[in-house]
Amino acid sequence: MCGIVGYIGQRAADSVLLDGLKRLEYRGYDSAGVALLDPDYSSDIQIVRRTGRVANLSDALKPGTNKSRMGISHTRWATHGDVTEVNAHPHSSSDGRFAMVHNGVIENHTSMRRFLESKGFVFKSQTDTEALVNLIAYHYDKETVQEPEKRFYEAVRKSLFHVEGTYGIAVVCKDCPDTLIGARRGSPLIVGVGKGEHLLASDVNAIASRTTNVIYLNDGEIALLNKDNFAISTTSDEGVEAVIHTVDWDTTDAELGNFSHFMEKEIFEQPQALQNGMRGRFADDGSTAMFGGLNLSPSELRLIDRIVFIGCGTAWHAGLVAEYLIERFARIPVEVEYASEFRYRNAPLDKNTLVVAMSQSGETIDTLAALREAKRKGYKTLAINNSVGSSIAREADGGIYQHAGPEIGVASTKAFTSQVMLAAMLALYLGRIRDLSYSDGAAMVEAFKSLPDLVSRTLTCAESIRKIAAKYSQYNDFLFLGRQEMFPIALEGALKLKEISYIHAEGYPAAEMKHGPIALICEECPSVFLATNGEIFQKTLANIQEIKARKGKVICILTENCDMPDDLVDDSVIVPEAHEAIQPILMSIPVQLLSYYIALERGCDVDKPRNLAKSVTVE
Ligand code: GLU
Repeated sequence: MCGIVGYIGQRAADSVLLDGLKRLEYRGYDSAGVALLDPDYSSDIQIVRRTGRVANLSDALKPGTNKSRMGISHTRWATHGDVTEVNAHPHSSSDGRFAMVHNGVIENHTSMRRFLESKGFVFKSQTDTEALVNLIAYHYDKETVQEPEKRFYEAVRKSLFHVEGTYGIAVVCKDCPDTLIGARRGSPLIVGVGKGEHLLASDVNAIASRTTNVIYLNDGEIALLNKDNFAISTTSDEGVEAVIHTVDWDTTDAELGNFSHFMEKEIFEQPQALQNGMRGRFADDGSTAMFGGLNLSPSELRLIDRIVFIGCGTAWHAGLVAEYLIERFARIPVEVEYASEFRYRNAPLDKNTLVVAMSQSGETIDTLAALREAKRKGYKTLAINNSVGSSIAREADGGIYQHAGPEIGVASTKAFTSQVMLAAMLALYLGRIRDLSYSDGAAMVEAFKSLPDLVSRTLTCAESIRKIAAKYSQYNDFLFLGRQEMFPIALEGALKLKEISYIHAEGYPAAEMKHGPIALICEECPSVFLATNGEIFQKTLANIQEIKARKGKVICILTENCDMPDDLVDDSVIVPEAHEAIQPILMSIPVQLLSYYIALERGCDVDKPRNLAKSVTVE
């Protein structure tokens, strides 16, 4: 969601900060700003903010012209207050002594603000953030410690005690030469450790070009950074032994190369992303999967009576596919919950329930909170996520990394198919420690191994989908319909179209259409059917007939060998037929391409769709 970059070192801070902000642009934001401190700290903290793109900020700042070697910066995704320059971060305290950037929501900001106003503090913005920076100034004034750095640290620490809500913050103080402070609770923040320089960031991507040595802060930790050293402590002032991780991050992975958009690049990267996700994860006997980080033995897993998947958006759809596959192959009952509902619903879980949290970024705040709720109740938890070292990965009892490479496009594509593949491999693994036979397991392993090639073959339909997209791009309502495992793919197809083309679209189980949505069918509302060969095909065909009988247009994505009557559908896309464990992945690809090409036809900003953010770190 919002991005934070902080820097203290020997280089021009404005250039380092802007470079970091540009690398965070994909996360989605509405305004951006920086605060810079003068090298000799003689003048006030300089704050520059702009609404819109980081390029607007860069034009205003003219990087390289400022002598500052330290500063903080931010891309905002507004939660409190309109998208205006005044509400953009950094915010300063009313005496101008502190500047702060913040990701998250200060829930008790109204009472804080009232208290501070009664003490004479003057507020300039509508944001919740401004209450906290002023509270820091308030505690700084009250602090009896005289040494400025210690006083600064104590002021931040004591202020954080009063916060209800979530924060990732970076703060600077005019009186404190060479000190940058960061802290987190609920929102991600990492420290980058360089030579003669330190960084703060909400996302590894922002700083990976500077250093690959990072410290992942935990909730309730504060980092005090100088140019040459750092100290981590808790808000209770206990020292923390920091562990420096080396991140394996190739910055070229986060560049566009020859593609026009990250979404396009990530769709076409799927064969490789899936290959990377399965590498080293099949047992030598060729009949099952294996995962290094589950931290659950086969005998513990045999005791699991129920699995609950928690996730949001696309990850929730991946959970729905997992439900079909795990129930089919492992015969374990599965439920899929929106993380935002699960966390407050107080759902009764059986004793032997396993909770699996799915999140590409591993920072989705609702999923993180739902995971914590499950842990608090004592359930075993697993995470499936793409971001090594993320909060969810660190907090779950065990996990499976996707290894799909960075996903920059806001609309998830390769992360979705990789989650589905890993859930299918989990179904295989769980099935094999229960009733799935050797030969059924071996057939699944063969299917997974063939997946990258089948995905490459499916991608060759791109050109025909581009033509279909051109034909249908002006329609304003779509239905996506599918049965069984194709139902979640229908939901995902509708979501993709909404996200990047701003077209109203609904996903339904194909047979459910008769119970309401059929009222929408007319020449202006095309339906996209996902039809696979097999026992259910004739049923799907009947649903297509029902649409055609009402003059609805039908685009059908179907597997080869389906016996489709001539001229029944208006347009079709043929996908290779495959094992049912991997068929949902192949069927996802045409719906991704369809939404991508329709968005292009409509002139939409595919990688930065309006109002959306990549990693949703606020509730
Ligand atoms: N709540 C803050 C605001 O509305 C921070 C939002 C963000 O995370 O970008 O300004």
